Amino acid sequence: MVHVMPSGLQVQLRKWKLGDRKLIKNTQLVRQGLLIPRLLEHLTENLVDPGPYSEKDLRIGKSKGMTMSWDNVAWQDTSYAIAKSRGDTRDALAWSQPCIFCQDIMTIAKKLSTLHSNPTTPEGIAHLRTGEPLVCYAGLSDEDCIPYHTREDAVAAGLDIDDIARFSMNILRTRLMPVVFKLRRESPNGDLSLMQTCTQIAELVQPDGKVLTDYEAILSFMEEDGLNVEKAVDTFVSKHSGGLEGSFEHVCSSCHSAQDVALPFGPEFFMM
Ligand SMILES: [Zn+2]
Repeated sequence: MVHVMPSGLQVQLRKWKLGDRKLIKNTQLVRQGLLIPRLLEHLTENLVDPGPYSEKDLRIGKSKGMTMSWDNVAWQDTSYAIAKSRGDTRDALAWSQPCIFCQDIMTIAKKLSTLHSNPTTPEGIAHLRTGEPLVCYAGLSDEDCIPYHTREDAVAAGLDIDDIARFSMNILRTRLMPVVFKLRRESPNGDLSLMQTCTQIAELVQPDGKVLTDYEAILSFMEEDGLNVEKAVDTFVSKHSGGLEGSFEHVCSSCHSAQDVALPFGPEFFMM
């Protein structure tokens, strides 16, 4: 089946075979966060249209028996591809996870074909094409956590100029997933989504003009300034990346609490 990714990248993916299970059971790949790109390399039959990616990005024909590399593809395209490829074999998935409120095991059923997806914006496509970071501004005391394209927009919206920070963001490439997984192994109690957000920040200019480019410095700044900033930059990157809706609402059948759940992109996703 030919699938068109949110960025416009078009690939033909074959269906799963029993032999693919060997890869899925490779715990080393899972631990490194490389299962999905390696699996896609096995499933890619044909590159139909590179979309915004260069030949160098996709290293076409470089590796033996491989149609393209997924390492330099944006994570939104990669996760979209794997969900679509899974859906070609079986559309209706069901998995179990504990309720975050009562801890009872919930069974979640989802049809992959019903997942909503957004296209990459023209700004996001230009970013993937040129590698120039996407720039957004966010107010550090802005409770509504709205990101702005320019500092002037932020001021016009009523933010105090002394509270506005500038973020140069990179859409997360698949090759950075091992970095995110390594960070998680090193600080198992850390917030994975915050780590992922910080990995995408190439440069952060504080309201006082201080420039941060070091991951640790960015992480401690973000930890201090709280969830509003993280949410603002996440909203900005998600909007421009496009892709599958990150999570959806599920109501626990034991305690009837509604909560956001996400597709389980671990080995179980491929074994269901
Ligand atoms: Zn519950």
